[in-house]
Amino acid sequence: MRIALVEPSRTNQRIVAGLIEPWGHEVYSFADAPEALAFLHVEPDVRVLISSIELDSMSGIQLVRNVRASLEPQRPLYIIVMSSSHERSKMIEALDGGADDYISKPPMTEELHARLRAADRITSMQAELVVLAKTDPLTGLLNRRAFVEAAQRLLERAATGHPLSALICDLDKFKSINDTYGHEVGDLVLRKVSAEARALGVPAGRLGGEEFAFLVEAASDGAIELAERFRAAVAELAIPAAGGEIKVTISIGLAEWKPADTLDSLLRKADIALYEAKRSGRNRTIAADTFPLAKEHEQWRGIARMTARSAS
Ligand code: GH3
Ligand code: MG
Ligand code: MG
Repeated sequence: MRIALVEPSRTNQRIVAGLIEPWGHEVYSFADAPEALAFLHVEPDVRVLISSIELDSMSGIQLVRNVRASLEPQRPLYIIVMSSSHERSKMIEALDGGADDYISKPPMTEELHARLRAADRITSMQAELVVLAKTDPLTGLLNRRAFVEAAQRLLERAATGHPLSALICDLDKFKSINDTYGHEVGDLVLRKVSAEARALGVPAGRLGGEEFAFLVEAASDGAIELAERFRAAVAELAIPAAGGEIKVTISIGLAEWKPADTLDSLLRKADIALYEAKRSGRNRTIAADTFPLAKEHEQWRGIARMTARSAS
């Protein structure tokens, strides 16, 4: 595991690191709290923080509180506070502040290792649960909630001048694949298409059914390029099934973020463009604002569904 150690005395840093490192852990030592806090923010893989209660610029208890308040709540980080005093009130304060464990200083080798094993068990399980909570089980893509979370972060960046486009993709005539080959083969097709989606390396979510959404940090042109690459990769797939290979195509609607766009309005524009891609023949990418809006765009069930989506 990667472990951050906060301890004002260099000698004690060396002693504690010397106990931990032979067990294969990587230890990053800090003399004071602010540097350690900054480090935790830029290194998401650090799984354990061991901090002395007594530090120079702030108390270890305050550091624990700051860490818990500023890191994502789901972040798997096990916090052990370490103190030479045996005051129970400090232990209680540390645990209430967000620490998971408490150890006396200098720590006993076996005790420290046992506590690190507990940290490993708990943070591994927590990391696994976080992945499960964010992932659509069939496709391995982000589920809708995780996609919306990722999107909110990208929308904040867009508001500071980074280009952003949203894509919505829907499989063409997918119902007939289910009807012809059965639901299980339909599921396999969804998995194969999703694997191509993951390979694009951009946040990709399953909005529901056979409909996926992507966010690309690019203006329209760059996003169209990526969409067309994805569409071509899907069209190349040959999925084995009883009685031959299945070919599948997708339609994609695309919209570029404009100031004042919310996630809902951005996806709505992409959804209208997707409808236009379907209407004009399928197996194509259409960008919003490149076609005249017809009455049927407003009437399309997609709009109602989008509204239901934003309300849910
Ligand atoms: P279009 O080109 O207009 O999109 O036609 P379509 O047949 O793909 O569209 P439609 O919305 O009528 O059908 C979508 C189908 O997707 C219906 C539903 O049974 C199927 N579907 C939705 N979710 C799943 C799933 O998780 N697994 C499988 N196998 N099928 C699914
Ligand atoms: Mg479809
Ligand atoms: Mg659909």
